[in-house]
Amino acid sequence: MNPSSRPPVAVVWFRNDLRLADNPALAAAVDAGYAVVPVYVHAPEEEGAGAPGAASDAWRTRSLQQLAGSLARRGTPLRIFKGPALATLRAVVASTGASAMFWNRRYEPAVEARDARVKLALREDGLTVRSFNGSLMVEPWSVETGQGTPYRVFTPYWRSARPRWREREPWHVPDRLLACDEGPSGIPVAALGLQPSPRWDRTFWDAWNPGEAGAHEALEIFLEGTLDGYADGRDRPAQTSTSRLSPHLHFGEIAPWRIHAAVHAARSTARERHVDTFAKELGWREFAHHLLHHFPETVSANFNKRFDGFPWQTPSSEQWRRVEEGRTGIPLVDAGLRELWHTGWMHNRVRMVVGSCLTKHLRWHWQHGARWFWDTLVDADLANNTLGWQWVAGTGADAAPYFRIFNPATQAARFDPDGIYIARWVPELAGIPAKARFAPWQHPDLLDERSRTYPAPLVSLAEGREAALAALAASARRNRPSRS
Ligand SMILES: Cc1cc2nc3c(=O)[nH]c(=O)nc-3n(C[C@H](O)[C@H](O)[C@H](O)COP(=O)(O)OP(=O)(O)OC[C@H]3O[C@@H](n4cnc5c(N)ncnc54)[C@H](O)[C@@H]3O)c2cc1C
Repeated sequence: MNPSSRPPVAVVWFRNDLRLADNPALAAAVDAGYAVVPVYVHAPEEEGAGAPGAASDAWRTRSLQQLAGSLARRGTPLRIFKGPALATLRAVVASTGASAMFWNRRYEPAVEARDARVKLALREDGLTVRSFNGSLMVEPWSVETGQGTPYRVFTPYWRSARPRWREREPWHVPDRLLACDEGPSGIPVAALGLQPSPRWDRTFWDAWNPGEAGAHEALEIFLEGTLDGYADGRDRPAQTSTSRLSPHLHFGEIAPWRIHAAVHAARSTARERHVDTFAKELGWREFAHHLLHHFPETVSANFNKRFDGFPWQTPSSEQWRRVEEGRTGIPLVDAGLRELWHTGWMHNRVRMVVGSCLTKHLRWHWQHGARWFWDTLVDADLANNTLGWQWVAGTGADAAPYFRIFNPATQAARFDPDGIYIARWVPELAGIPAKARFAPWQHPDLLDERSRTYPAPLVSLAEGREAALAALAASARRNRPSRS
């Protein structure tokens, strides 16, 4: 080919947008006639608190393999490198003769700062550099109060943000992408070493299918059945009543606007309530990103400063071990912790109960639980996890007050009335009547041989609750302004 007739080359930097369809950065490169160099750079040390945990790494490995396969079938292999990002991208640019670089934005504070530096440096090198919104309905900074300040409370945020949600035309990826043969081919996904060893993730993959195809499959399943019972069923952990799209959304395997459009298109009078409730949950995801962008310090600091002097307890190694093993002796909490360990996911209702138990009955700082979730959840997401933990601990922007303490036994009776979820994950209790599964220590007469092997509760629910309320009262007294 005559070099002068070569198409211009653009690097498309894949990050948490591991999909081809509805990918604004890829679409921009393809639509402008560039030959595409798809690149993935592994540089967790640059991501601060957003550096992935172990379960995320296990998911990412599979998702990258899917993406690499889809790109290879289109004649443009994914080139995988280990960081640092800027030096790696510069080397790819130099060896391919690329004149442009496109990526979809991420919102974790350290990543945002790194990306800003990379953008500036590459522009100084003379490249065309553009970034896009590939993962949110609206940008976190585009919604603000009448005073020009960020929202701190969900309902007014939602009222203001919802009307800005726009459907976007689907972008279907062409069967072939214009390729560039120059430059290094990178390393195989496996060489990133993200696969856990030993392989504690094996049980995950009965429940999940990472990658773009798996994301669309999950959406189809949701639309075909689950959506119809969503508004009420979403609180029932024994049922598959939610979309289970969270890891797919986190890794950008499907665009939220595609999910929203599909759910909206399925709207009917009978489904209205379910569609609206689901949209609101996507709204919480948006709100979480709004908060993360405007208040990046809340990844590690209490949003509500009144909790800064709160008398949190330090977990003992024995307590930790029992939490990790799902042997706290509190059945709904253990069921959730074991579901998490086996599948890399925990039902939202149970996340709230586990979070409440750790931060209130045990009075652990929410950071302890947040870190555990970060390492074990396949959908670990800095915005959603931070919001979830600060909400449940009562320290958040728009949070459940600290004095609202979920009773795990009452929650189980209400949301798992037949004890099915508990029996599934805590089989020691499967042989006793449902009412005894919620709080076995209250029914010594109903226990069988196996259930007697189940441990006594790590903390008495009544005493833990009293101690938490006393700690709150003491903390409030300290925070009261003195009269002198
Ligand atoms: C302590 C705690 C920690 C959490 N950590 C995470 C996390 O790391 N990553 C994560 O994605 N979610 C987190 N959540 C929120 C929620 O539990 C999950 O998003 C939800 O369980 C995912 O299941 P789903 O996809 O079936 O949800 P669906 O009910 O089908 O909801 C659809 C989508 O909306 C979003 N969503 C739903 N609920 C929330 C919420 N409360 N906050 C923010 N977004 C929401 C998710 O992207 C979800 O995939 C946490 C919640 C709590 C209480």
